[in-house]
Amino acid sequence: ERSMDPPKIHRLEDSVINRIAAGEVIQRPVSAVKELIENSIDAASSSINVVVKDGGLKLIQVSDDGHGIRYEDLPILCERHTTSKLSVFEDLQTIKSMGFRGEALASMAYVAHVTVTTITKGQLHGYRVSYRDGVMVHEPKPCAAVKGTQIMVENLFYNMMARKKTLQNSSDDYTKIVDVISRFAVHHINISFSCKKHGAARADVHSVATSSKVDAIKSIYGVFVARDLMEVTTSGEDPSSSSFKMQGLISNSNYSAKKMTMILYINVHCLKRAIEVVYAATLPKASKPFVYMSITLPPEHVDVNVHPTKREVSLLNQESIIENIQSTIESMLRSSNSTRTFHTQV
Ligand code: ADP
Ligand code: MG
Repeated sequence: ERSMDPPKIHRLEDSVINRIAAGEVIQRPVSAVKELIENSIDAASSSINVVVKDGGLKLIQVSDDGHGIRYEDLPILCERHTTSKLSVFEDLQTIKSMGFRGEALASMAYVAHVTVTTITKGQLHGYRVSYRDGVMVHEPKPCAAVKGTQIMVENLFYNMMARKKTLQNSSDDYTKIVDVISRFAVHHINISFSCKKHGAARADVHSVATSSKVDAIKSIYGVFVARDLMEVTTSGEDPSSSSFKMQGLISNSNYSAKKMTMILYINVHCLKRAIEVVYAATLPKASKPFVYMSITLPPEHVDVNVHPTKREVSLLNQESIIENIQSTIESMLRSSNSTRTFHTQV
């Protein structure tokens, strides 16, 4: 009996490596929207407008009024691992931007047609340039532009037929996009956001910059959410281990929705579970809460480098932080329950 010859190992071509990696960063249209909005926020924008066609498969267009992109940087803009936000590994400890990997635009340019229009301060005109597979398809062309950057992502997954097919019949991608923009709008109340379908007259998300978190929630999620919110804050003081600050807005026991809304910054899965448990213990089964919560920790207590899309981060002393937040909510719900009032439906 002859044993099989071992298969030969060879090096994958860059184009294959890049497309595989791109498919991981950009899993669906909503992942592209999230990355583009994060870039606009990192660019200090005060207004971000999104237009979507065919659930994002035909077109995702994000326009902002941020600082724009330098002309000299355009040639490498959509190459992998090119970023203005990180230079040495140690910068990760204190990084304040949402991006730092320099992979998002590159990924989009490997699985879609990307066109960038941008103008920087003091310039008389902007530049427009298109990308394919990470590189410019032509020199940047001078064009008229208002402040900021507009990025168009067209024909997403045109070169990944299987991915495109599984997404084509799913009607909920636009819903996912509206949902993610609504969440950004709750957290970043100093930025105005809008989102609409291509050609539509009306926007499906429309937030105006405000200084009140409750007003922001009212304009995005409606008055029925906003009137039943309690402010919640807690913190851990031990500077060596579990120092953190949390502030949020959570629904009281009068509020009851069919669907749970949890907007968590940072989004820790165990925390989500912990909050669910507290509400489940106080509310009737069918009624779901609304929770907005922003958690601030010393940067050196957060490791953002565990997941490419930052879906997961690890926290130092995660258990004690979650326990603290859980018991704070529990005691608030208990006291809100004892003064339970009933709103009449209008
Ligand atoms: P990262 O955000 O991790 O740096 P990206 O691929 O998302 O990587 O973006 C690459 C770079 O392009 C960013 O570092 C930033 O300098 C620039 N950039 C992307 N989008 C914008 C934008 N909307 N406005 C200004 N600069 C942008
Ligand atoms: Mg980015």
